[in-house]
Amino acid sequence: MIIILRPDTDIASPEGKAVLDFLATRPGVMPQVHSVTGTGRILTEIYAVGDTDSLDPQEVASLPSVERVVRVSRDYRIIGRHADDDRVGGFDYNGIRFDQQSLHLFAGLCAVDSRDNVETMMRALNEHGLPCTRMGAFKPRTNPYSFQGHGTECLPWVFELAGKYDIKVIAMEVTHDTQVDDILTALDDAGHPTGVMLQIGTRNTQNFELLKAVGRQTELPVLIKRGFGITLEESLNATEYLAREGNGNIVFCLRGMKTNLGDPHRNFVDFSHVPAVKHLTHLPVCIDPSHSVGSRNRGPDGILDIMHVTAQGIIAGANMVLVDFHPRPEQALVDGPQALHLDELSWFLDDMSIAHEAHGKRTQLAKQNNG
Ligand code: PEP
Ligand code: MN
Repeated sequence: MIIILRPDTDIASPEGKAVLDFLATRPGVMPQVHSVTGTGRILTEIYAVGDTDSLDPQEVASLPSVERVVRVSRDYRIIGRHADDDRVGGFDYNGIRFDQQSLHLFAGLCAVDSRDNVETMMRALNEHGLPCTRMGAFKPRTNPYSFQGHGTECLPWVFELAGKYDIKVIAMEVTHDTQVDDILTALDDAGHPTGVMLQIGTRNTQNFELLKAVGRQTELPVLIKRGFGITLEESLNATEYLAREGNGNIVFCLRGMKTNLGDPHRNFVDFSHVPAVKHLTHLPVCIDPSHSVGSRNRGPDGILDIMHVTAQGIIAGANMVLVDFHPRPEQALVDGPQALHLDELSWFLDDMSIAHEAHGKRTQLAKQNNG
């Protein structure tokens, strides 16, 4: 059961305490308190877990500070959207709003390589008014002899350049909990010129200890990729680990499934699951067209497959696009062949706008027809 307190009710206030005292009278019921930052206000939610059958929702709802009670109907209780659950999800980070209505482009390097390439990329983003990027410093590679990323050593100059070009959020994968501390320390040392969204890669979707460590810190939001060989339900349960540890600032990312049925794409593109994830959870949903398609193939209509699937995800309501770009793909140390070129950025943005506008029109049409 999720007990939602009236906005701005402090759990330490007498009204907040009264709810906890009430729950304490029920054997086997364990309350977990979560603070959710809505637009400009703090919302407190109490998750009553354990033996909740003895709780009467109406009785709980009648307590003075309780606004609403939601009966949990999914295993992933915190991130899940339950029956009659109209809570608004999402979060603000470094001045940017992430929710199921927003749309943000995170174009950038798969892996940080040279200072010059990072700077050229960030300058171009800034010229296009784009405040977000992707920059991998810690790369999980199939082959141990492949470039593993510049690691902690590159963080100071990547953050400094991000500050110079007004980049507010960098999506950056972590493969080990010590890297979270390294990123937090480097941000502190640099004076917070930018922000980081920690990325959990598809190979680590079910690395539960990493999820717990990332979920325990609440300073940085998290982008978690769907596991490429597990069910959507399993990936959503993995995502719940983050929220369960206390960090609910999460974006869920679709990036394709590993099966030869997806050939000729690197992965079977799963962006038809965008509306499914929005229905099952409150989370903003990201798509990664680069790691799902994995090439610069172009159709007879002249449109790159990466642009086709991006449009398919956006027309279905995607809230974020994580995509590999590179100013000099021949110099890229990871995934150069799938990178879009900097001079394709304007085209990519124009193509995104067409799909975004179409999604808006489709939503209006649905409103009219749903009465
Ligand atoms: C990435 O985004 O750089 C990446 C490695 O993606 P994935 O975890 O989806 O393979
Ligand atoms: Mn990559």
